[in-house]
Amino acid sequence: MEKSEQLFSRAQRTIPGGVNSPVRAFKAVGGTPRFISKADGPFIWDADGKRYIDYVQSWGPMVLGHNHSAIRQAVIKAAENGLSFGAPTEAEVIMAEKVNSLVPSMEMVRMVNSGTEATMSAIRLARGYTGRNKLIKFEGCYHGHADSLLVKAGSGALTLGVPSSPGVPADVAQHTLTAEFNNLDSVKQMFAEYPDDIACIIVEPVAGNMNCIPPVEGFLEGLRALCDDNGSVLIFDEVMTGFRVSRGGAQERYAVVPDLTCLGKVIGGGMPVGAFGGKREILTHIAPTGPVYQAGTLSGNPVAMAAGLAALGELENASLYPHIFNLTEKLVNGFQAAADKHGIPLTTNHAGSMFGIFFTDLIKVTNYQQAINCNNEQFKQFYHGMLEAGIYMAPASYEAGFMSYAHTDELIDETVQAAEHIFRKL
Ligand code: PMP
Repeated sequence: MEKSEQLFSRAQRTIPGGVNSPVRAFKAVGGTPRFISKADGPFIWDADGKRYIDYVQSWGPMVLGHNHSAIRQAVIKAAENGLSFGAPTEAEVIMAEKVNSLVPSMEMVRMVNSGTEATMSAIRLARGYTGRNKLIKFEGCYHGHADSLLVKAGSGALTLGVPSSPGVPADVAQHTLTAEFNNLDSVKQMFAEYPDDIACIIVEPVAGNMNCIPPVEGFLEGLRALCDDNGSVLIFDEVMTGFRVSRGGAQERYAVVPDLTCLGKVIGGGMPVGAFGGKREILTHIAPTGPVYQAGTLSGNPVAMAAGLAALGELENASLYPHIFNLTEKLVNGFQAAADKHGIPLTTNHAGSMFGIFFTDLIKVTNYQQAINCNNEQFKQFYHGMLEAGIYMAPASYEAGFMSYAHTDELIDETVQAAEHIFRKL
């Protein structure tokens, strides 16, 4: 770890915490974050040359595995024609058409540069379209770091939201209502309290930022019905689930159609890309056709579009989803069996190629409170044991894991064996 250690201490002099995004600093698990020098397929290598089987996959984008040749070639080819024009390109038209063909509820699409921009813009659009102020989000769901989304539940289910970060004005946070994931009653109470001022519900249809928590039966359908009954916009934040829990995202997997969808991660193939879109009737309210302002100097960037289109093109591969779904199931079943064998209280969740493991006595974890009550000390020991064994998982217990097409049965076996070895000692 010598080089990672040196780089980390050097980084901390000029970069806050040594990192450009907080979880990378290993605060939740302690120790030195590995500085990464290259990645290929299912593997990443750190600055000291150690190889890891990677279940972070850049936090989701690399559904095909790292450094995929089709994406790399597309990027090189696009870069030869110039990096940015600030004017429309054919690639953006093809991208919008492609997104619409994969996610049909996205009748119109606007490209942005991150998931944060996608959700922030979708919220503004929903507010502008409905002329209402409040939004409902769910405890434990993360939608990027826009002010109105960095809000946690106040005390009591019906109190107004409170900022979860200094710098977010209470005046802004008060318009964000925080309900309980997988609990429709908590949402109904909010509509009862504010029948005419809820612009939208935004939800991760499979929560991936409080570990991995799929929706219970009827939850997404119930949100759809509540939005219909109350004239509110239903926004699916599919930044993580898009093209991952199914080719058409969670809306295809669970057959619930939102009004607006936010995308990120896979849609950029590893480049900084996000998108939001949905019903034509709503999207026409965005500038320049409508009054709701939204823009971006680098939005629809030609190199990023080339990477994203190459990635989306590869999703047509008929063996992709069966492969990643089977491997994900094999992995979580392997973890479960290994933990059971050694008497470690553990449960798992998965949806498509997203998964989570919970150190808990509970049979199933379905909400945030249950997720945060898991045994974090055991997770930390597990995490460092796996890292030592050359297996790179998300450095925090509240993050989903991701499978890629480049993973193999053999790598899953190796991962489960390493886990079993750790469970034996825990
Ligand atoms: N929404 C969800 C569901 C996410 O998981 C994330 C990031 N992990 C975001 C939004 C924000 O995306 P970005 O980090 O690209 O801004």
